Amino acid sequence: MRRRAALKNLGGLLAAPAVHVGAAAPAEQPVLRIAHLTDIHLKNDLGAPAKFTRCLHHVQQQTPKVQLIMNGGDVVFDMNKENLGAIDDQWKLMKSVLKAECSLPMVYCLGNHDIWWHENTKGQATYGKQYAMQQLELAKPYYSFSRSGWKFIVLDSVHLDVDATWYIGKLGDEQFAWLENELRTTPATTPVLVMSHIPILTAVLMIQDDVVNRWEMLGGDMHTDTAKIINLFYKHPNVKLCLSGHLHLRDKVVYNNVTYLCNGAVSGAWWKGNLRETAPGYGVLDLYADGRFTESYVNY
Ligand SMILES: [Zn+2]
Repeated sequence: MRRRAALKNLGGLLAAPAVHVGAAAPAEQPVLRIAHLTDIHLKNDLGAPAKFTRCLHHVQQQTPKVQLIMNGGDVVFDMNKENLGAIDDQWKLMKSVLKAECSLPMVYCLGNHDIWWHENTKGQATYGKQYAMQQLELAKPYYSFSRSGWKFIVLDSVHLDVDATWYIGKLGDEQFAWLENELRTTPATTPVLVMSHIPILTAVLMIQDDVVNRWEMLGGDMHTDTAKIINLFYKHPNVKLCLSGHLHLRDKVVYNNVTYLCNGAVSGAWWKGNLRETAPGYGVLDLYADGRFTESYVNY
């Protein structure tokens, strides 16, 4: 009923979810409904546990039911500004909230704040991505899986810059070769959804205060290998949708029939309300067998 009502509204009402790739609304049922939760930044402060719990309940009360949560990274508040005890507490808190309040399966992508890069901890077990991967039970920082006729590709977009002091958004040669192979070996009829923490393509970097005569695009804000990735996607029209977070602002860019959705942040402005015009929220997406999808950003 609800879906039919929503589809009937597609004549242009803002409240209706947007349908992509082809003008006609899908007549069939979606094959999968997912929620995209990104930038949760959980810690035991700022009312974060209670607000995150409310968000999880909101996701699980969706009708039709959400079947899978895609977690876009920045799972914990920040690995880089805390001591090891505080970091451990953030991960423990995340696990206990999820165990108590969430019965849906969740897949993860690494965010920059999930990775410990203290210079003076190089060589220790906590250094780099290994610690977060252990917490999230990830064998590799990037991977793929198939579900309901769609292929899901989870990327690791956070890498140290050439001077090895800070991160930038990129895949690196090894992961790019892996991505090429993944797409080459995926049947052309299988729609592909890609999730990264840092956006591959976004327009929100152009929303900045105090711009005099140019915008500044930082390599940590958006992928620096965007052109290369887009060129690869162009060879594989079954790539339909790219989800990201990182910027805590919601935007949607469609380029070469690929939709790039930066889905705000569960934490909004790090648990202090809205960041600019984007309120805390998450994405809900209905995926259809033929590669079409509907999506909306939901405030909880
Ligand atoms: Zn974040």
